[in-house]
Amino acid sequence: MMSNKNDSIELSTHTRRDVVRAGAGMLTASAVLAMSGVASAQNRAAAAPATSPVGSPADAPAVDPRTRYAQPPFPKQEQEAPGLTSKMDPRPDHGEQSYRGSGKLMGRKALITGGDSGIGKAAAIAFAREGADVAINYLPVEESDAVEVVALIRAAGRKAIAIPGDLRDEAFCKRLVTEAVQQLGGLDILVNNAGKQHAVEKLEDITTEQFDSTFKVNVYAPFWITREALKHLKPGASIINTASVVAYIALPFLVDYSQTKSCNISFTKTLAVQLAPRGIRVNAIAPGPIWTPLQPSGGMLQEKIPTFGADSPFGRPGQPAELASSFVLLASGDSTYTSGEVLSVTGGLAIS
Ligand code: NAD
Ligand code: MG
Repeated sequence: MMSNKNDSIELSTHTRRDVVRAGAGMLTASAVLAMSGVASAQNRAAAAPATSPVGSPADAPAVDPRTRYAQPPFPKQEQEAPGLTSKMDPRPDHGEQSYRGSGKLMGRKALITGGDSGIGKAAAIAFAREGADVAINYLPVEESDAVEVVALIRAAGRKAIAIPGDLRDEAFCKRLVTEAVQQLGGLDILVNNAGKQHAVEKLEDITTEQFDSTFKVNVYAPFWITREALKHLKPGASIINTASVVAYIALPFLVDYSQTKSCNISFTKTLAVQLAPRGIRVNAIAPGPIWTPLQPSGGMLQEKIPTFGADSPFGRPGQPAELASSFVLLASGDSTYTSGEVLSVTGGLAIS
């Protein structure tokens, strides 16, 4: 267990000499795994060919996006929400073996909700390899996923803070920000990424409890967390919200979830204008179908899991690693004139 009596723990920064020096946090998979103590089963990142790194040098060969990663059909698989990475087949790629940093976020301090798995894990790995210290939030039942992310952040030579807790609780959201700020020593980047998605075919079958819970995680928590974070964010800070393609493209079995993702976009656009005079940027990323625990744990109708992503123009789902550079772009000084933007990473699905 990583939790202590304060429900959080600081995992001390690796000394720089522990880090491979050729590029900020550029580590081989085996070095990361050896340093992190992650079990050898992690080596089978079935979806990720080792020969096609994200953020690869300019002279790397061009990569065909259609065949880069595993294509449907996928094995049938079902797990309970919120789902664990270790139970997925094939294993998603979060850039463990491939993401190479170049100091774009050196010394920055980031909080990522849902940082234990999927898209948040890919952002956490990339931020750390770009030089940021990272705090992640997740549900206590996701501890085993969180341990691996913490190890990967540490392997990049950065401070990792793990703060488990349920974002449906306003008091916890407030404490999350306070603890992250205290333990990181400030806050520059906030990523509101945690999400609840439960597919239900008929509106009549969506319970009030589900509706409420989905809105609490996806809409209330970003509001509560951002409101608290604004006490600490300074000019140059960046807020990134994870929205979704379903705010634009209707999936009939995601009525409640899609509403929350539209909320994420309105929140982004209005807040971007409100916070511009304070020098704080606010943007959103709208992913298409991405291979994460969210989907086999009830986010997608089970009968659609074998063909997940088949309808996208590239004929496959995206992998979390394919979103990492977008989060880094919006967090970094490379996008100082970008605010109120919704960046789509959809495999070609048009969102407007
Ligand atoms: P994921 O399951 O890996 O991440 C979602 C995270 O949300 C979980 O790891 C969990 O820690 C967190 N969470 C859920 N309920 C919580 C609660 N009550 N308290 C605290 N944390 C809670 O899946 P992902 O696909 O990486 O999801 C990340 C974001 O991406 C979500 O906002 C999701 O809506 C969005 N998204 C995903 C897809 C996709 O196809 N996977 C597409 C578009 C948008
Ligand atoms: Mg998770």
